[in-house]
Amino acid sequence: MNYPVSCANCGKPATTRCSGCLTAPEYRPGDAPATAYCDSKCQQQQWPTHKVQCRILNKRRTLLRIAELLKTALFAYRECVYDIPLTEVKYEEGILRLLLDPRKIPYRPWQIPFPSDLNISPQHKEAALATNQCTTAQCLLGPLARYLLGGIESTFKVVEVNAEPIVPWKFVWLSDSKDELRSLACTAVTHTILLVWLRGEGWVIDTTGCQFGFGDVLVPLNTYFKKRVKSLARGPFAYTEHETSDLDVFDCKLALNDTDTKRLKAAHERAGRLHFAKFVRERFDRYESPRPSEELLGGSSEEFQVRLARFKGDLKVHMASFVDFASGKERLSESG
Ligand SMILES: [Zn+2]
Ligand SMILES: [Zn+2]
Repeated sequence: MNYPVSCANCGKPATTRCSGCLTAPEYRPGDAPATAYCDSKCQQQQWPTHKVQCRILNKRRTLLRIAELLKTALFAYRECVYDIPLTEVKYEEGILRLLLDPRKIPYRPWQIPFPSDLNISPQHKEAALATNQCTTAQCLLGPLARYLLGGIESTFKVVEVNAEPIVPWKFVWLSDSKDELRSLACTAVTHTILLVWLRGEGWVIDTTGCQFGFGDVLVPLNTYFKKRVKSLARGPFAYTEHETSDLDVFDCKLALNDTDTKRLKAAHERAGRLHFAKFVRERFDRYESPRPSEELLGGSSEEFQVRLARFKGDLKVHMASFVDFASGKERLSESG
């Protein structure tokens, strides 16, 4: 850990950092400096001066942790409910190629756990988990995001932007002969993100940006728009979606002559979303308990990472029971 060399109060060599604002993200370059002290006496003396800045940075850090929690929830879900027959990920000529094998198209239950046997970097795995997921994320994470963000006196909106990928991705279907590569999908540029205003600061939460090589889940709004956005596509809108909002719209559009397979797929996806919703509702006491602050989002980085890992583990165990149920008990007939 990097300590600032001197005590913020007396200038002697420092030994402790203020835990309230440690690891807060920068909004402008250099505006989240670590504050350190030689002892607790100096810290107490300095507190009247430091407290205003400390509280601002503490809120920012909480926002970052909310963003990390949302992304973790989405990724835990996607690791259990995956619908792409992915066999390999290759980074070539500035494009991330997701190689798909048509022989591995999930039949039943259509959504399967993310393949565990891929030799893939964590970064590419994140990209593969996030491809085409911004609408799902917006719906799936809606109630949880509103619950968590409501606890930090923030306001928020959803916006669709025309994004400029750092690393575009491409689906590449392996043909039967295997040596001939056939491209079907191309780079996606319309992207949904969440705008959050916290004490006069504008931020972007982007849980699925890693599909385009956008590494950070929380970015100052100005930086995000300058570096990643070509233009606004739609919005901003009020964030009202819930776990199945997009499926509700999709189901209304299902025509009478659509196949049973299509209906079963839609029903299966809905069941997975609802199973996720059940976990989150129970975990946060149906969103009626006081909004979590310190016990979930506070503490040191290490403590938070432990909590985050536990949350992810619990959610994956919960989602695995859905996958088992779906694969073992799917008995509906299918035609077409
Ligand atoms: Zn001191
Ligand atoms: Zn502080």
